[in-house]
Amino acid sequence: MNENSNISNSEQEIFDLIIIGGGTSATFLCLSILKIDPEFKILIIEKSETFPQKIGESVVDMTALFIESLGIQHLLEKHVQKTGVRFLFNETNSSDPSKIAEFASPTFPGLIKGYHLNRSVFDEQMLDEVKGKGVVVFRPATIVAANFIDFNNELEIELEGKTIRVRSKWLVDASGRARYIANKLNWNDQKIELNTGSIMAHFKNIAPVELWDTPKNEHWDTCSVGLRKFSTTHLMRKNSWWWIIRLDDVNTSIGVVFDKNEVQFDEHESYFLELLETDAQLSIITKNAERGPIRHIESVPYVSEKLYSKGIALIGDSGAFLDPLISPGLELIGQQSIWLANLFTNEKQTGIFKESAWKKYNNTFLKAYASRLRIYSVAYNFIHSYDLFTAWLIQGNYVYFSGLVFPSIVFKSKLKNPLRFNLMERIALNFFTWRFTKFQASRESQGRISKTAPNTLTYSDVRVPKSFRFYFVPIQLLLKSLKAYLILELKEIKKA
Ligand SMILES: Cc1cc2nc3c(=O)[nH]c(=O)nc-3n(C[C@H](O)[C@H](O)[C@H](O)COP(=O)(O)OP(=O)(O)OC[C@H]3O[C@@H](n4cnc5c(N)ncnc54)[C@H](O)[C@@H]3O)c2cc1C
Repeated sequence: MNENSNISNSEQEIFDLIIIGGGTSATFLCLSILKIDPEFKILIIEKSETFPQKIGESVVDMTALFIESLGIQHLLEKHVQKTGVRFLFNETNSSDPSKIAEFASPTFPGLIKGYHLNRSVFDEQMLDEVKGKGVVVFRPATIVAANFIDFNNELEIELEGKTIRVRSKWLVDASGRARYIANKLNWNDQKIELNTGSIMAHFKNIAPVELWDTPKNEHWDTCSVGLRKFSTTHLMRKNSWWWIIRLDDVNTSIGVVFDKNEVQFDEHESYFLELLETDAQLSIITKNAERGPIRHIESVPYVSEKLYSKGIALIGDSGAFLDPLISPGLELIGQQSIWLANLFTNEKQTGIFKESAWKKYNNTFLKAYASRLRIYSVAYNFIHSYDLFTAWLIQGNYVYFSGLVFPSIVFKSKLKNPLRFNLMERIALNFFTWRFTKFQASRESQGRISKTAPNTLTYSDVRVPKSFRFYFVPIQLLLKSLKAYLILELKEIKKA
């Protein structure tokens, strides 16, 4: 498509690839390409002079494996090692920590090393890293004109008061939620059912854990790679959930994601502050903390109808994002990077555009988004309920670890495969979703909540050990997930 045809052919610099945006999507892709072909000539166009505070701070297991494959461990020393994942449930809004039920998944020493990334710092580090490997970075740069012709993209860029003309066969949109290509070329989004929003801020010096957290956890202290406070902590509430992510000893990221079908407000800032004040736990956590600017994402989920055309590819948030619960953002970006790196380097080597391979990229990731959508669009129905959501998480752990994490450790080639449900898995998911939603509906009609004794705590039993026990963990997780479901059925039969 010819967006603006005023670009002259004179003095054009030609690249193998031009990337719009210099965030994680861009740099993950660059490192994946340069691993295969260190001579690949890439240009990144980044509009900002420095990165503002960013979201996307918790690294899940598949992202951790991908990051390890990039060989950037030296950059991660500046970031906090993630010590596990926790979900805290408080249906009675109690300030008594013993009344707060917990699902805990400590990270054992083993094959996975996750992080909490201070994203503005990490993204700067990554941009320096790719520059060091020969990627040209125009920054701060503005695209002033563009011709999008099949396999011949021409851009006119303003950089330090000069106009520069560049050309490449392929252009990647990594502009995040700005969605440069989708907006410029009017690519449509799919109609999706999920309807969530999010509000967030960074805080300095939140209250010490003794004041608000569940009682000391001996098991965690003996088995985890670090302190509980450096786990990704989720506070599960009716129709919403919060994340608490410590970025270091001083700074903490706190944010909420809510179902917009159930939650309405006039103004996001006062709503956020009201929630912080009225929630028993959050009011203690943030009472004397220094707060940074509040950011609002009015509509969190969207999925483009397509992820490529002839000469243009989308990666990361430029194409789609669904929900940050269980942090799939960077995970999918890592997987897309592997696919795109293979597509670009193959094409450069052979000179042949393989349409079927591009269709596979498109279909694989659109199916991955559709599969995740199945999870998120129902989870908000019972997200606050300790036993329902815990059973749901235990099932999810079985699927995630046995279907993705464990195979990716044994066969490195599996790392590129995103979570997708086949027919049998979709039927199973529909069944469990139907049961859990039904349980929640009957509880609501009878005014019941999850029954929890003081200090209720369930462990995920997820571990990724280096020893032979590794091969038995998926079986253990399967048995645990069946047990959790059967217990729920029995409990509900007794109540009926
Ligand atoms: C509430 C919330 C919480 C999240 N939490 C997590 C989490 O814990 N873990 C996780 O893995 N993921 C998380 N995510 C997802 C994650 O934040 C994103 O998937 C990820 O940051 C996207 O990276 P990106 O590089 O595609 O986009 P960005 O990081 O947004 O980078 C895009 C870059 O493009 C630049 N740009 C934009 N327009 C132009 C232009 N016209 N010209 C040049 N440059 C341009 C921008 O300046 C920016 O630097 C979360 C998402 C949300 C909404």
